[in-house]
Amino acid sequence: MPPTPFLLQMLGNFFSPHLHAFLIVISDTLRIETSIRAVSSPIRIYRIWFFLAVESAAKMRRNETLICAPLMADTVDQLVELMHKAKLEGADIVEIRLDHLKSFDPHFDVERLIKECPLPTLFTYRPTWEGGRYDGDEKNRFGALRTAMELGADHIDIELKAADEFNKFMNGNRPGKCKVIVSSHNYDFTPSAEDLGNLVARIQAAGADIVKFATTALDITDVARVFQITVHSQVPVIAMVMGERGLMSRILCPKFGGYLTFGTLEPGKVSAPGQPTIKDLVSLYNFRSIGPDTKVFGIIGKPVGHSKSPLLYNGAFKSENFNGVFVHLLVDDISKFFETYSSTDFTGFSCTIPHKEVALTCCDEVDPVAKSIGAVNCIIRRPNGKLFGCNTDYIGAIDAIENGLQGSHNIVNGSPLAGKLFVVIGAGGAGKALAYGAKEKGARVVIANRTYDRAREVAELVGGQALSLAELGSFHPESGMILANTTSIGMQPKVDETPVTKEALRYYELVFDAVYAPKITRLLREAEEMGAKIVNGVDMFVGQAYEQYERFTGLPAPKELFKEIMKNY
Ligand code: NAP
Repeated sequence: MPPTPFLLQMLGNFFSPHLHAFLIVISDTLRIETSIRAVSSPIRIYRIWFFLAVESAAKMRRNETLICAPLMADTVDQLVELMHKAKLEGADIVEIRLDHLKSFDPHFDVERLIKECPLPTLFTYRPTWEGGRYDGDEKNRFGALRTAMELGADHIDIELKAADEFNKFMNGNRPGKCKVIVSSHNYDFTPSAEDLGNLVARIQAAGADIVKFATTALDITDVARVFQITVHSQVPVIAMVMGERGLMSRILCPKFGGYLTFGTLEPGKVSAPGQPTIKDLVSLYNFRSIGPDTKVFGIIGKPVGHSKSPLLYNGAFKSENFNGVFVHLLVDDISKFFETYSSTDFTGFSCTIPHKEVALTCCDEVDPVAKSIGAVNCIIRRPNGKLFGCNTDYIGAIDAIENGLQGSHNIVNGSPLAGKLFVVIGAGGAGKALAYGAKEKGARVVIANRTYDRAREVAELVGGQALSLAELGSFHPESGMILANTTSIGMQPKVDETPVTKEALRYYELVFDAVYAPKITRLLREAEEMGAKIVNGVDMFVGQAYEQYERFTGLPAPKELFKEIMKNY
């Protein structure tokens, strides 16, 4: 008998790079053809099978957590179509939401759905009182679920509130191979750890083969309690925290041993708030590669959903075979976040609007440059659990601006910024970093900010001049100046906004915008029309990520890959 796929998977997980290389050598030596048509003997089939299995094991999953596609449709025909789509997208199982069908025959249609489904099935017939659409008689609902069990469904879902009645209805029978998921949904909040523990005990007592509970995240720290339950559970658990603040629960569940996560076929076509797409789970977050020892990284911000950091870092982690995952972290209170996620598994963080300044105060140790700037955008958790903060924003932005100026300046030594009048709009984390960087390069710095007092503070820090935002339009002591927007003005979704009039842009040689979504903001478009050179926030983004990546992983940043990823964006 050939080794089991599981054994190969384990071998692949632990020895994949070496084993893979070894097998390539072996297969070359034995001249193993990978074309199935070339197969001529059982021993060859065995070798090819073994080779292909180990090759794919080397690339594939490090967890058994399933991706379940929730399927909602008006008709059975549409559902069948969606099942095939789910398989193509990479789902492992489909949840058939009977309550969304306009009408169906509980025997004929359920049988068809099971027969035609290319993946294992989970039947859910959610009543309105638990967030679903069914508002009919309970006996009919139970009857449809029983039929699904009898006809070969792999799982059915029954709500905790209805579980006793359902068990009576079933009279102790469990037809077929079907596993029963007993579920509970809290659309208001996430209970305390103790209450969650009690909830799980009640779900188990109700006869669950698999426990499911979904709660609502009012704060990202709510997810920690859910991870705690999942990781300690003796029975399979599906535990989700709904909403954007709960996104991490859906991506990291394989790390904590969750039974499944839900992934949608299309963005927004969700059965519960906050579900990512299957495509994002598989391609963006490398879901299959997440295991118990996977290090967690993330971008802390509010808002944060627009951030392309996960795209960049996860792309690099995948190509370098680095055991890490990088997630969006919608954080309201950064101190509370660090207090809650204090394990060394939560290894590194990028930090964006509006947390960069408070983040500095959360660090046990801060790089001297970041201290001078007064903001950190990169935080590393040391193996002893202490937080180290540094600032890579200024390097990324100043490099990008210098590159933008090169060509027009024949400067052998020194920076093309030396002696220039450098106007920074904004006095937050990015504003301070740019003001500091420009000053370091010998520029004369001016800060314009909505809150004038903050502009004055930064101006004092770098020995520059402060302006209110209103004064900026008429500020043109000379031409050939540099302008750098470091506010979120013009960022999606408010793409029609701009921090300064088009007319005022005629005095600038180069205009830079830290906003990178969209890549070309209104400010940059108008600056170009007024004859200025432009540098976009993507160049800064890539530049600041090099150092972060190296600090996160201890590996050299794959610079070409970073550029390639952002070029496609
Ligand atoms: P922050 O610390 O919160 O600072 C925000 C700054 O923007 C403050 O000066 C604030 O003025 C100003 N501001 C915000 N909304 C404004 C409005 N409607 N009108 C006028 N001024 C406004 O944020 P940050 O971390 O510095 O980030 C700022 C921007 O830079 C964000 O868009 C971020 O995405 C971008 N960024 C890009 C990169 C990159 O790699 N491309 C890196 C870092 C940051 P007040 O002082 O008056 O509140």
